[in-house]
Amino acid sequence: MQAQTTSVEPEVTSYLSSDHIQMFVGGKWTDSDSGEMLDVIDPGFGRRIARVSAGGASDIGRAVDAAQDAFRRGSWAKMPANDRAVIIHRLADLVDKHRRVLAQIESMDVGKPISQSYNYDIPKVSESLRFYADLSVHTRRREPIAVSGYESYTNKQPYGVCGFIFPWNFPLQLLGIGIAPALAAGNTVVVKPAEDTPLTSLYFGKLVQQAGVPDGVINVVPGLGRTAGAALASSKGIRRMSFTGSPETGRSVAEACGRNLVPVKLELGGKGAAVVFDDVDLASAAKGLSNALTLNAGQVCCTATRWLIQEDILDKFVDQAVSDLQAVKIGHGLESGTEMGPLVSQKQKDRVLGYLKKGEDEGAKTLLSGGAVSIKGHESGFYVTPAVLAGSPDNICAKEEIFGPVAYVMPFRNEDDAIELVNRSDYGLANSVWTKDIDKANRVAESLVVGINYVNTHNDIPMGVPFNGWNRSGFGGGVLGADTLLDYFRNQSVTRPRT
Ligand code: NAD
Repeated sequence: MQAQTTSVEPEVTSYLSSDHIQMFVGGKWTDSDSGEMLDVIDPGFGRRIARVSAGGASDIGRAVDAAQDAFRRGSWAKMPANDRAVIIHRLADLVDKHRRVLAQIESMDVGKPISQSYNYDIPKVSESLRFYADLSVHTRRREPIAVSGYESYTNKQPYGVCGFIFPWNFPLQLLGIGIAPALAAGNTVVVKPAEDTPLTSLYFGKLVQQAGVPDGVINVVPGLGRTAGAALASSKGIRRMSFTGSPETGRSVAEACGRNLVPVKLELGGKGAAVVFDDVDLASAAKGLSNALTLNAGQVCCTATRWLIQEDILDKFVDQAVSDLQAVKIGHGLESGTEMGPLVSQKQKDRVLGYLKKGEDEGAKTLLSGGAVSIKGHESGFYVTPAVLAGSPDNICAKEEIFGPVAYVMPFRNEDDAIELVNRSDYGLANSVWTKDIDKANRVAESLVVGINYVNTHNDIPMGVPFNGWNRSGFGGGVLGADTLLDYFRNQSVTRPRT
């Protein structure tokens, strides 16, 4: 039977049918100075669905200038927090109102199932905006300091222009989570979305206009990393930087920021581990991990790709997980029932297939053979099937971030053994522990060198729970926590002698 395709909203058709989508700078839609364009590909069909203006260094310069002007005007930075919160709430309401449109654009751009973009990605954007808007209203700006002989207080001030560079896997969700605290604190922002997936970030610009956010407070400049991204990271006009992406690019962004003494927050890659003990509910753990592996076709920084299974349940667990993964319905993101879409690009597909080959060349045993798959009617799409490998912890697939639906299974004997295996990784983003014994779960979790631990689940991101990577997975404060708002203020002191 032919799968039903979600009917595309007329607004989506009209958005994508323009000759090209311009950049959003200083509250206006504008072409790039060079007039260059980027093609945007629907990875489910492997064909172009839109063109966007490709920003370069001068366009980033214009956007930073616009954001600086907006900050200096003070109509945003000096606005009372509750008035600013009203505007941010209005923006959140508009995101909700356009949820269907945004979810469809996100699915076509990234390839993810509409159920994921509609139920998971887009709602997180409005939730983040509201969370930080509300928090900012209740955050004390002035704190008296008890100091002998003086009257003194600290005063929280926004930084100024904050730069944001995002990857392609959760484009609008990461944008929302990222910029909400910066905006709520009174900063202005310049966003550089990933070149593969700029569409929802640009559509967000339309909502920014409708919400009445003052011109220049939010600017969106799509473009290549080596041009627009590098220009933003090395701009002398920004006062704070936030980068989400690979450790390799994160290093060059941090170097550029270091040269200008600009503080930077890095949210980088991961090689998450799941530690599954033998007392677990085997069916639900296997299902939980196969769902985690196929979420966004495995292109999830925090997902679990190293599966450590206690040795006496290893075979049963693998059988169950393999059967769950074989049942996953692969298809175009807009087709009903699709559980896993394509990878985002041919480049990403080549990367995943390359890792499978290297892993097998290094001696990994294949428990579920993954690889390229042709989907009827979508033969040019970038589809792969999930794979499960097993073998030595020194195998390349056990160590490096593949960023696709590939799990690597390793057995362990006891708690100490599991902790040692997990902590071999330089990455430290997100792990999970699966057991009915909550004391054991917490004990093991606290022994892992990682920023985020889950127990009997994986990939959840409740608002308010800090999401921050350690070591090769990043530094600088993370996202999603209440403290993240404070990262976008700097403390100023005011002191006078007591008379
Ligand atoms: P990437 O590092 O290749 O690109 C990320 C962004 O950086 C893109 O916008 C790109 O254009 C830009 N960029 C590239 N070169 C640049 C340069 N020289 N200077 C400035 N900017 C540059 O990463 P990707 O392939 O888009 O995303 C995948 C990576 O992102 C994975 O490692 C994944 O784990 C990570 N990620 C981390 C988180 C997190 O919260 N920790 C979330 C999502 C993705």
